[in-house]
Amino acid sequence: MKITNIEPFVVSQELNTPFYFSQWEYSTRQICIVRVTLDNGFYGWGEGYGPAAVIKAGIEFFSQFLIGKPAIENETLWQEMYRRSMDYARSGTLQAAISAIDVALWDLKGKLLKQPVSVLLGGIKNPRIQPYATGLYFTKGSDLAIKLAEEAQLYKAQGFSAIKMKVGLSIEKDIAFVAAVREAIGTDMKLMVDANHAYCSKEALELCHKLEKYNISWFEEPVSPEDYEGYRRLRQKSNIPIAGGECEYLKFGFKRLLENECVDIAQPDICAAGGLTEVKRISSLVQAYCKDLVPHSWGTWIAISAAVHFVGNLDKNPGRLFDDMPTMELDRTENPLRDELTTKSFSLKNGIIEVPNAPGLGVDVNLDYLAKYSEK
Ligand SMILES: [Mg+2]
Repeated sequence: MKITNIEPFVVSQELNTPFYFSQWEYSTRQICIVRVTLDNGFYGWGEGYGPAAVIKAGIEFFSQFLIGKPAIENETLWQEMYRRSMDYARSGTLQAAISAIDVALWDLKGKLLKQPVSVLLGGIKNPRIQPYATGLYFTKGSDLAIKLAEEAQLYKAQGFSAIKMKVGLSIEKDIAFVAAVREAIGTDMKLMVDANHAYCSKEALELCHKLEKYNISWFEEPVSPEDYEGYRRLRQKSNIPIAGGECEYLKFGFKRLLENECVDIAQPDICAAGGLTEVKRISSLVQAYCKDLVPHSWGTWIAISAAVHFVGNLDKNPGRLFDDMPTMELDRTENPLRDELTTKSFSLKNGIIEVPNAPGLGVDVNLDYLAKYSEK
């Protein structure tokens, strides 16, 4: 059962309603997915998070070292890819290319062994997951506070118990929008905010103080991912838990984040930080620092399903008899690549995900859609 083909695809589609956040505007969704095929005809799907064309080039680079190798030895292949990249790209998009191939290899392994990925990771410790809804981005036009409040109410009606909204336009606007959303959802729903590193630590601390009365469960990426000292100072002075890590790669990046006491909640993206193989190692590191891990996830059902299986296997830290369900990110913004290119592998009812039992990730890709929207 050797690898015979590794095919990256860059897929793009325009959005009906462009949206923006503190850094960029999105008018198109674009992703790089990969299919790894074996000599017995089996194949697995993976996905990289980040600039799709660069990830595609990275996958093409790594392919030459993997063709003809046994797919089931995913950790051996991971190490081969890592060693081929470390002299030039110890973090960044080449690691997302490794992640995409790694996720596809886990999918393949599950299909070969007829087991869901969560079981292969060690077992389903958490059969049910309570994801939080990511949305509440900004759109053009007036009455943004009203639109955000209505969107938040929609997630509440769908059964979500927690939502995350964007901040980072300005402190005044952030306060106004958070106040509108909190009023719309009431006090019984968790609310998180994400600045996508829009602020310096002084601004972030001012925002923390002004947000405290809105009962914020975490403040995500308050400052630059380069500013470990700013993260640390903010965390020491803030009563709001600090989250971050979607811009970190491999265990080494998370070691920096943790030993600098930057975060209460570490947020590796499985499709960027090194795949399921490396993020499982990162979870041990996070546990050793007695912090929480909630994976960042942004993409198709391939990426989201990888996160579902990962969280299904995640250790409770420290755990208790009547424990809450673990959480993970579930992006609810417009994404035709998620909803039309791929098929959801798990059930989501009343805001609860059941970890699926199908072999591998359990994800299907619509090949007609792939042929129509992938770059030739
Ligand atoms: Mg974020």
